[in-house]
Amino acid sequence: MKTIIKGLLDVLYPPVCHVCEGALAEHERFVCRRCLERLPRTGYHRNPDNPMVERFAGQFPFTHATGHFFYSRDSDFASLIHDMKYRHFPAIGNLLGRVAGAELFPTGFFADVDLIVPVPMHFLKQVSRGYNQTDHIAAGVSDATGLPVAKALCAPRHHRTQTALSREQRLANMDNRFAVADHDAIAGQGILLVDDICTTGATLRAAADTLLTANPRAITLLTLGVTI
Ligand SMILES: [Zn+2]
Repeated sequence: MKTIIKGLLDVLYPPVCHVCEGALAEHERFVCRRCLERLPRTGYHRNPDNPMVERFAGQFPFTHATGHFFYSRDSDFASLIHDMKYRHFPAIGNLLGRVAGAELFPTGFFADVDLIVPVPMHFLKQVSRGYNQTDHIAAGVSDATGLPVAKALCAPRHHRTQTALSREQRLANMDNRFAVADHDAIAGQGILLVDDICTTGATLRAAADTLLTANPRAITLLTLGVTI
C-alpha cells in the first residue's frame, strides 16, 4: 500500500534534486549524481594543518579534524543543509554522512575511531524539530564505515539563540551545555565526534570538553560542512 501511495505521489510530484531542481533518476535520492559530484569538497583530510585543525589546535587534544564540504549560505551545498535541518528532510543527513564516510574511509581518517558520537540537541529543540539531523549524519557515516554509533552525550541545558550574540558571548554561552550520558561507552575508546556544520567551532569545542571528562583514548572531529 505504501509503495502504491509513493508511486502515485511520484507521478503527481516527481522527486527533484534539492540543488538543481532537475528530475531525479530512479536510484537517486535528494540530489542528482551531477550535483553530488560537484559539491565543494574541502580535501582537508589530506592536510594535517588544515584550517579546521587550526581552529582547535592547542585547545583540546584530538587526532584528526575535517569538514568534508565548504559551507557558505550562498553555496549549492547550503540548500541541502537547509532542507535537512528546517524542511524535514533528515535523510539528507544519512545520505551526506554516507558520502563523507565512504570518501574518507580509504584515507585512514577513521584509524583512531572505535565509536561515533553525534553532537546532541537539546530535548525541547529536538521535539519541536522532530529529529536531530546530526543523529542521521552519524548513522550515514556508520553505514559507510561499519563503525557503531552511541548517543553518549546529551544536551540537558537549553542555550540562548546564538545569532544575536557576539563571538565572546557565544563562547561563554556554550559553556556546560553538554553532559556525558554514557560514561562507560566513552572511557578508553577512540571517539569520532560528528556535527553538521563547523562555523566558530564553539559547539565542537564544548562537546569535546565534555567528552574529555569521560577519558576517551582519542578524539577525531568530523563535520559535513565547514565555513571558510
Ligand atoms: Zn542536481
